[in-house]
Amino acid sequence: MIDIKITKTTCPKEKPDDASLGFGRVFTDHMFLMNYDHENGWHDARIVPFENFSIHPASTVLHYGAEIFEGLKAYRLADGSVQLFRPDQNVKRLNSSAERLCLPTINEEDALNAIKTFVKTEQDWVPHSDGTSLYLRPFMFGNDPHLGVHTVQNAVFAIIASPSGSYYAEGINPVKIMIEDKDVRAVRGGTGYIKCGGNYAASTRAGDRAEKKGYSQVLWLDGVERKYIEEVGAMNVMFKINDEIVTPALTGSILPGITRKSCIEVLKSKGYKVSERLISVDELKDAMADKSLQEAWGCGTAAVVSPIGALIYKDVEYTVCGGRIGETTHMLYDILTGIQYGKIEDTFGWTVKI
Ligand SMILES: *Cc1c(COP(=O)(O)O)cnc(C)c1O
Repeated sequence: MIDIKITKTTCPKEKPDDASLGFGRVFTDHMFLMNYDHENGWHDARIVPFENFSIHPASTVLHYGAEIFEGLKAYRLADGSVQLFRPDQNVKRLNSSAERLCLPTINEEDALNAIKTFVKTEQDWVPHSDGTSLYLRPFMFGNDPHLGVHTVQNAVFAIIASPSGSYYAEGINPVKIMIEDKDVRAVRGGTGYIKCGGNYAASTRAGDRAEKKGYSQVLWLDGVERKYIEEVGAMNVMFKINDEIVTPALTGSILPGITRKSCIEVLKSKGYKVSERLISVDELKDAMADKSLQEAWGCGTAAVVSPIGALIYKDVEYTVCGGRIGETTHMLYDILTGIQYGKIEDTFGWTVKI
């Protein structure tokens, strides 16, 4: 196991009010850092006061987008303790992302130990109010100081943390989603199945266009035929059609969400039939027209589940579930947040105490 050297700040910041927390604007006192170079592998693991990076202007990340990240939360329980939700899955996905972009992978135990040790150091920053959490952002970037395009020889792995407010401070309100038929997020063989910054850069335009029209996010279609449903914004998507749960199969262009996986496991444990398969926008249109579409929701770490109240396709708006949150969406929200915040028993063995 890599040793982590901890240097505490001499001037801790004042912690913000739980009520004023947004998302990702305030950062804690420290950050985790570790360096990689070809000769030494990963080394110099350390927790240091939070500060700006200094990088070479030719650094790989600035020119060729060699950047991957993860997102997970530390939750405060009623007894004051802190826990994580399936962090082993984030570590596995980080390495899958690294492998795709020719960044160095990290020993899983070392990466998990880095996350846990960092959260322990920052545990006073985990907020207490309902629905709040400490959002953790592990990330890695290529940092070679030259412009040649190769597998990187130098990389940085870092973890920063931001106390975040409740995603549903104003209650769980269903959102309106525009089906995007121009831009695509990813193609098979590309980087759709990994968490890299470049995917987000390419998704921003469609998201902005949808927002300007008054919709919350876009529903992405496949990059080849613009026919099959992929994801909603930066969340996976699920539909309840004729009492069956349908979600796009992981075909290579879809991000394998940990919330998606957890939803599927909860649904199966409750006796639901779950199909991971291709679902075309025409099938969805028919299901909306004949009312066999009962519910639709996005799922991801930030929102847990986000009910979809309306879908817009080629300027026609279809109401979903009467614009309300459906019973299955609600059940998933209650069970997942119940486990995350320690309010219900974790029969799946998903939580990790700090
Ligand atoms: C992170 C992410 C998700 C959700 O993954 P979780 O592990 O559930 O948070 C879904 N789609 C995209 C594009 C993502 O980046």
